[in-house]
Amino acid sequence: MSAESFARRHEKPRELSLQALIDGAGKIAFFGGAGVSTESGIPDFRSAKGLYNEENGEYSPETILSSLFFCLKPDEFYDYYRSHLLYPNAVPNAAHRKLAELERAGKLSGIVTQNIDGLHRRAGSRLCFELHGNVNENTCVKCGKHYGVSIMAQSEGIPHCKCSGVIKPGIVLYGEPLDMYVARGAKRAIADADLLIVAGTSLSVEPAASFIKSYNGKDIVVINKEETPLDEKATLVLRGGIAEIMSKIKVRQH
Ligand code: NAD
Ligand code: ZN
Repeated sequence: MSAESFARRHEKPRELSLQALIDGAGKIAFFGGAGVSTESGIPDFRSAKGLYNEENGEYSPETILSSLFFCLKPDEFYDYYRSHLLYPNAVPNAAHRKLAELERAGKLSGIVTQNIDGLHRRAGSRLCFELHGNVNENTCVKCGKHYGVSIMAQSEGIPHCKCSGVIKPGIVLYGEPLDMYVARGAKRAIADADLLIVAGTSLSVEPAASFIKSYNGKDIVVINKEETPLDEKATLVLRGGIAEIMSKIKVRQH
């Protein structure tokens, strides 16, 4: 028996808790979705209480939140946007806060999120790649002036800039490409990690879901209340609410 295989056979079995995997990791990439913010009171799309299971009349949320619908029926788009995507009273939960703490401790290569609620940034995260943009960064299509979320929340009908241009929400609509720089940074953050945590996402929105293919490491942790297509490949699957799970993690300095 070679020395190497002897060592491998007599290796202590690794403890497969989230805490042990986090402690043992050099850099962690976090890939998240709407489920990360449900415990902040923002509904996701595909859970039982999600927006997809709500009666929406004629159109699905995916249709309403598309670039084509935005151009053809802007009034209906903004009504839906204001009533379903803006949660001015939502605050970061324990998961957002713990990730910000992990970043401060030098443990994160980045947070890649499909969420548009901006809660990771509000919790203090900076290494944050918001693949689908952010409700807090809105722009006039005519003069390029930036607006915060309050003008969108308080507007009626189509929100207009002082220059008369339409103010477009800073989110990526279905049918629009992702921001190239955000996408590049997100892929790098995932490629640089030796632990990938995938949480609160059904992994059904492309191209976002395919970003996890950039991961070259061994260990993947899935945190979700339901089954996901990644469960089979994961080192550890935790079934439950992410805020509660992350709140138990102790952050040790790197
Ligand atoms: P999704 O709605 O398709 O899936 C949510 C997933 O999270 C489900 O698998 C569900 O089981 C899980 N989940 C729900 N609550 C959870 C919790 N507390 N802990 C752990 N898991 C939980 O969401 P998605 O995969 O992100 O894709 C939907 C798209 O909708 C994204 O593109 C995103 O931009 C958008 N969206 C964003 C928000 C937001 O910004 N908060 C909210 C709704 C939808
Ligand atoms: Zn303008």
